[in-house]
Amino acid sequence: MAKRPLLVGNWKMHGDGGDLAVIVAIGEAARRHPAVDVALSLPATLIDRARRVCPGLAIGGQDCHPEPSGAHTGDISAPMLREAGASLVLLGHSERRQDHHEDDALIAAKLRAARAAGLEVILCVGETAEDHAAGRSAEVVRGQLTLSLAGMNGQGIAIAYEPVWAIGGDRTPEPKEVAAMVGLIRNTVAGARVLYGGSVTPDNGEALFVDGGIDGFLVGRQSLDADAFTAILKLIDGTAR
Ligand code: PEP
Repeated sequence: MAKRPLLVGNWKMHGDGGDLAVIVAIGEAARRHPAVDVALSLPATLIDRARRVCPGLAIGGQDCHPEPSGAHTGDISAPMLREAGASLVLLGHSERRQDHHEDDALIAAKLRAARAAGLEVILCVGETAEDHAAGRSAEVVRGQLTLSLAGMNGQGIAIAYEPVWAIGGDRTPEPKEVAAMVGLIRNTVAGARVLYGGSVTPDNGEALFVDGGIDGFLVGRQSLDADAFTAILKLIDGTAR
């Protein structure tokens, strides 16, 4: 059965009170496309304000600590995100795997904490340029999934396939490469929605969506621009199976 499409924006370390109008515009676009689930993963400082200005829009965090509270300066817990108004969280983004040396065991602990707090999880997986060039993409992604899910089923979890080499640039995999990885992910995690992320734009989105066989996108830069994000939302709504 076809799953409800899901479009998630990742604002990373961008955005402040001056950007609430962008969030409102995205919330209005989401209301015009009720067949697509839309969410924005925002900096923690914006979660509560986004929820107030846009009560109908799903808001997410971008990481959480495995513990609910404690002496962890600078961190944020899953119950804190939930209390601030988030309903989902990104975990395992390649920027955290790289910048903060997060491994799959830590991501597994975060995932359990997020689910226990009632947050949906967007679990990011994807191979580096080096692994891609060496033909190890499938092996890497299968390993990340197995270790970070650690026996959990796909309940409340969407998997975002984000080849590291495609993030933040202008290169994307061929849609058939995406489709092959999506097949692997669906065989490994039954029932989860599968997203693609990495340099998605209104121009390349349709081919990736249709021929990649995905349920939606995780979008970085283009989610900071309400018009571009809305164009991606429209193409998903227009082409969803
Ligand atoms: C991301 O960081 O998750 C991402 C997909 O970024 P971009 O769309 O900017 O490549």
